Formats: sequence, C-alpha cells, structure tokens
Amino acid sequence: MEQEKEKEAKKWNFQGNEELNASAVSVRGVFNMLIANLNAEDQRPLLRLCRADPTDSSCFRTTHVASDAITSAVQSFRFNCYPPTVSLLEARRAVAEHLSSDLPFQLSPDDVYVTVGCTQAINIIISVLARPGANILLPRPGYPQYEARAACSGLEVRHFDLLPERGWEIDIDALEALADENTVAMVIINPSNPCGNVFTYQHLKRVAETARKLGIFVVADEVYAHITFGSNPFVPMGAFASLVPVITLGSLGKRWIVPGWRIGWIVTCDPNGIFQKTGIVTNIKNYLDITTDLPTFMQAAIPQILRNTKDEFFAHNLDIMRESADLFFVRCKEIPCLICPHKPESTMTVMVQINFSQIEGIIDDVDFCVKLTKEESVIILPGVTVGLKNWLRISFAVEPLALEDALSRIKAFSLRHMPKCP
Ligand SMILES: *Cc1c(COP(=O)(O)O)cnc(C)c1O
Repeated sequence: MEQEKEKEAKKWNFQGNEELNASAVSVRGVFNMLIANLNAEDQRPLLRLCRADPTDSSCFRTTHVASDAITSAVQSFRFNCYPPTVSLLEARRAVAEHLSSDLPFQLSPDDVYVTVGCTQAINIIISVLARPGANILLPRPGYPQYEARAACSGLEVRHFDLLPERGWEIDIDALEALADENTVAMVIINPSNPCGNVFTYQHLKRVAETARKLGIFVVADEVYAHITFGSNPFVPMGAFASLVPVITLGSLGKRWIVPGWRIGWIVTCDPNGIFQKTGIVTNIKNYLDITTDLPTFMQAAIPQILRNTKDEFFAHNLDIMRESADLFFVRCKEIPCLICPHKPESTMTVMVQINFSQIEGIIDDVDFCVKLTKEESVIILPGVTVGLKNWLRISFAVEPLALEDALSRIKAFSLRHMPKCP
C-alpha cells in the first residue's frame, strides 16, 4: 500500500513541504493528540489546563465596554470598506496613546500597525527578518509560534535559556555568546508565558544594554502587559528604546478576555529612528500590503475599548488570577512528583518540573500528559511543546474550584504512580 502511494506521488511534481511538517509543533496540535486519549467512560468533567484561554471559565468574561464598541462599529455602517494597509488612523492613534502612558516618550500613530492577533504580529516580524543567513535569538522555554514561523520562513533560531533558579531570568552571558554578526534580533516575552514571572526594571535594562552592544534589536512580546499580581510591576521594554530599538507586540486577547476577537498590534518604539534607517519599517509596510487585515469594524472598535474600559474590570480579573496562583502554589507542593521552582506572579501559565524519583512507569513529559488525560481527564501541556523536556506547562487561569479539582486529580495520579518501597 505504502509503496503504491509513493509510486503514485512520484508521478507529480508537487510534494508536501517537509519543513512545515517538521516545524508543526503547536499547542493546538499537542492538544488534539492528548484529547484523542480521553477515556470515554470517565463521567467527570474534562478539565483543560493546557491553554491560556480564560474564556474556558465562566468567571472570566469581557466587559460590555468592549462588546458595545464592536456592536456600535457594525451598526454605524461606516466600516464595511476594506481597511487601509497600515490600519485605521483612529485605531493606531488609540494604541499609541494607550502604550505611551507607560513610556518616557510619546509614540506616534505612525509607529502602530494593527494586526490579526499577536499571532500575525509574530508572523510578520519573523518573515520580515528572514533574509538568507540571518538568525534570531529566542527564549527557552518560550512560545512555539516563533519557532514554527521561523522554520517556515527559513530563519535560523538560536535559543538562550531562562533560569528557573533565578526566577526565570535570562542567562545573559550565554545570550551574548550565542550572537554573531548575522544575529538580527532577540525576543523576550514579558510577563512570561510559559513561566509566569515578570522581569525587573534592572534585568530589562541589562537586556537592553546587551542588545545594544550586540547591535541587535529587541522584539518584546507583551501580550500579558499588566497581567501581574506579584511584587514585580510590569515595565514595558519600550522604556529602554533610547538605548536599543524595540518592536513591541501586543493584543487585546488576554487582558480583555477576548482571544477570539484577534485584535493585535506591532509597535515600533524607536525615538532615535533606527528602524527607518535600516529599512525595517519599509519591510513591515510591504509585508502588510500583501497580507490580510483585521476586519475594519474591529479596528474601528479599538479606541472605545482602550479608552473606556474601567479599572475595576482589570482588578476583578487580577483578583481571581491571584487567588488561583496562590491556590496552585500551595496545592502543587502537596503533589510528590511535581516541583514548582517559582510561584506564578503573572500571565496565566506556570512551569513545573517532573520529579522522576517520585514517580514510576512514566517515561517523559508527553507520557505523563497522555496518561494523565486517560486516567484523570485532566489536560496539561508537555513542556517539550514550549522547549523544556520533562517539564509541564500548567494554565492556572481557570475557576478556582475547577483548579482545585484538577490539582486533586493530579495528586491522585501522582500517588497512584509512586515508586513502591523496596
Ligand atoms: C497568546 C499569546 C500570543 C498570541 O496572541 P493572540 O493575540 O491570541 O494571537 C502571543 N504570544 C504569547 C506569549 C501568547 O501567550
């Protein structure tokens, strides 16, 4: 059969793109693989702690300010046209204003490009940078979209480690050693998915100084901007843009609990005008000319959403996340086979290490997650998906009661697989 298939395929000039298959590691792909292992006999509800999508829990719900903004944009009949290449001026102005309130300088609407989620923002930046021979520095653990897109675009990736014993700070010496004259940029994700930490001002300053020394710019993925509930406040990378040019990526999805709306942005933070001189801005515009855009009425809703959302909305969500993070950290300590090196203080995810001395019959992180799905109907993400084998990424942005249920099932799983005493 296989031979037949191969013979038939050879008759044609087109074959599948092997590069794409090799790079197709994604949260969605792994989720689909895990869910296929579900035990249909289990009457308990399926608990999904594998995605950073808070809409799974009814306690997280967006604000009427946002839904009203969309409705009135549609009902005005003014936004049924194609949007301009660089997106609606009013939307760009609102994003510039929104981000400038945290920066030591004013962004201009010309610094902003509205995108289809932060995902498209990542795709655009990686594609723009992928000239032959170039390489980019990515964090490990990280967000797999960067690796997947780099593989599709033929951009070489080099990984620098985030150090659990240092609260997931960047190993800056190792980062410096990785770079060469073909390195174009480094990516930081702050607040960090998957680690759940927040970089300090001092650490970000060191990152900026290092990037400056290397002659590269910083891509700052700040989709979780302001989703912090520990002691470190959120500091935007753009605060250091006078030292090193920064491209900030963001979206409404996580903070406004509307990941499905796909509203995102690319922002150049560059008071010294270096991006203009190096041609990156022209590249971005040219790319936008040939790609799809966020629907016009969605763009039109952005100003109202950004300007009118009440602080209480954010405060309420942060209260739930803080409660969930606290609960997670306490309960996790009671699970023998898990080690959580750093209490989550931001985002919606946390990394925990599997302690193999406390568990038997489990080969690795993927095996752990497959068996957990089968036995407990709890889905968590194998660490290998985000670059760290034998770790697990757990999303704690779920209703505290559901989180409690999930953690007691993981504990039962852990105890059931404890090594037998000799
Ligand atoms: C969710 C997420 C994205 C993607 O954002 P969307 O706006 O949903 O496309 C990008 N980066 C990180 C780190 C994320 O967690």
